[in-house]
Amino acid sequence: MGVSFREVTKKFSDGTKALDRLNLEFDQGEFIVLLGPSGSGKTTACRLLAGLETSSEGRIEIDGKDITHLPPRMRGIGMVFQNYALYSHKSVFENIAYPLRIRKVGNADIESRVGAIAELLQIGNYLHRKPAQLSGGQAQRVAVARALVWEPTICVMDEPLSNLDALLRLHMRTELNRLYRRLGKTFVFVTHDQEEAMTLATRIAVLKDGKLVQFDEPRTIYREPANRFVAEFMGRPAMNTIEGTVTDGIFRAGNIACPVERPDGPVTLGIRPEQVELVEAGSEGAITLAVDVRELIEPDTLLIFQTGAGAFTVRTQKNCDHIEVGQPVGLRFPREALHYFDASTGERLR
Ligand code: ATP
Repeated sequence: MGVSFREVTKKFSDGTKALDRLNLEFDQGEFIVLLGPSGSGKTTACRLLAGLETSSEGRIEIDGKDITHLPPRMRGIGMVFQNYALYSHKSVFENIAYPLRIRKVGNADIESRVGAIAELLQIGNYLHRKPAQLSGGQAQRVAVARALVWEPTICVMDEPLSNLDALLRLHMRTELNRLYRRLGKTFVFVTHDQEEAMTLATRIAVLKDGKLVQFDEPRTIYREPANRFVAEFMGRPAMNTIEGTVTDGIFRAGNIACPVERPDGPVTLGIRPEQVELVEAGSEGAITLAVDVRELIEPDTLLIFQTGAGAFTVRTQKNCDHIEVGQPVGLRFPREALHYFDASTGERLR
């Protein structure tokens, strides 16, 4: 029981390939986040699932049934768009009621179902208003209520939070988490925001150029990125990746030298800014570099270094008030924090 994209390709009439033999399978009840840079095919995947576009090749199945050519209304999918797409001339009540009206649900039933979902989403007091009289957060809840009121099996949300200000966005994220846990439905959620992806997803599908590059639980995506692209995409600031060469167990690049357990040859070394240890300059086993830039992002500090092999960033919770630009500091790379990527393909090396 679940959703499968099998070898799904979507080519638009102008020749753009938005999805390129996408294979993706997940279970009902999961919260799937589609994550990837702009143009990677996230919206297209959602629209194909909801039936708003048809694939050029391949098929989509829901619970073992081929739905590739099934009309949208027969798919059991509710959809929330980035701009909410509410009907401006209808009241909030009628906006939410709409999917029930087109399914010929009786008035009494509509009253109670709209009332229940509005209460769940805390918009019961606005049912008589028009969309123009709502705040962004309220409009977003109405869009979610409309997508869920008819109890679809799957709720597809394409960047539903991106129009909200930072504080409201955080609040709505928590609300969505609660809603998901309460309803136990399948959610497919698109975002650019990796923090949203990390906090909401049961599994994250990372897309690039219309292809799936990794599909795993959030912690695996963070701890064991499948390749350099995922490594640099997940985490803020991005993982440091340094191209260098191993000789006799020592990795060298620019003015970095670090013992590694790798065979001789070229390799890309990765380490997350938050996993570098800051120590006294000249400490044994540490790399000593001079601070190039210091940025405070309370309560953390970012220290940026030039290595001769690119910039290198450290994020630390230590008090760095005494550290001046130009001052040498020691950096230690804990062995368990090191990632290795193939120097030519960028694939993770085990
Ligand atoms: P974003 O994060 O910017 O919304 P996305 O990952 O959702 O991007 P899509 O909107 O799925 O990406 O687009 C994937 C590719 O398909 C892009 O190159 C886009 O320009 C192209 N594309 C999308 N819709 C059409 C269309 N109707 N006609 C032609 N090309 C399209």
